Amino acid sequence: MALSDDELDRYARHIVLPQVGGVGQQRLKAANIAVVGAGGIGAAVIPALAGAGIGRLTIVDGDSVDLSNLQRQPLYRTAEIGQSKAALAAAFVADRNPHVAVTAVAERITPANAEPLLAGHDMILDGTDNFATRLLVSDTATRLGIPLLSAAAQQFQGQVALFRGHEAGRPCYRCFVGDAFDADDCDTCAELGVLGALTATVGNFAALLAIRAIVGFGTDAAGTLHLFDGTSLAWRQLRLVADPACKTCGSPDATDR
Ligand SMILES: [Zn+2]
Repeated sequence: MALSDDELDRYARHIVLPQVGGVGQQRLKAANIAVVGAGGIGAAVIPALAGAGIGRLTIVDGDSVDLSNLQRQPLYRTAEIGQSKAALAAAFVADRNPHVAVTAVAERITPANAEPLLAGHDMILDGTDNFATRLLVSDTATRLGIPLLSAAAQQFQGQVALFRGHEAGRPCYRCFVGDAFDADDCDTCAELGVLGALTATVGNFAALLAIRAIVGFGTDAAGTLHLFDGTSLAWRQLRLVADPACKTCGSPDATDR
């Protein structure tokens, strides 16, 4: 996938990095990423991925901009309250980088549409704000054999992890959180609050994990949970393990129990 003169200029600060170079930039251009959720996490992830030159982006969000979103979602302006987040985010991407082919899906992700919407992507980045949706996105990613980058922020805590639950012996998001939250579709962010600057920190960290996985530098982060505490400012890493009895990625024998 050759880069034009404009792209060589645009991505010059990437291409000069030995770990990225022209080959890495071409991998970014070849990548097709679905971002589910254009809220606090998405508002950081989407500009970062567009700027980095991800070739194709699909943005899935059924919500409209609300006044209370503006504290942490710099993709949107006061004058845009009431408008579709997916459409606004896609317009932002098109303005920011004309080399990105962006698709807006102004729909809430559901068990009925998750598989057709997410199939064909190289990576799914989940920045939604409730467990039921996160489990649905994760189960769909595992079934489709697509790596999942999961990012969440609440109050002062952030967590980010790359999952390859479709690979044998690797944990999926469901291995991590279990089955108890399938019916939990409440908006925990609204109930508990979240520091606006935290969502940007966590979202940008998620974009970094996505980019390093696609370019292929550094060690494989899959299966490691990255936790950030905005009060102590500490990052911690936890190694997650696959649950053999996981109903999504576990072995059929184990899930019979
Ligand atoms: Zn699992």
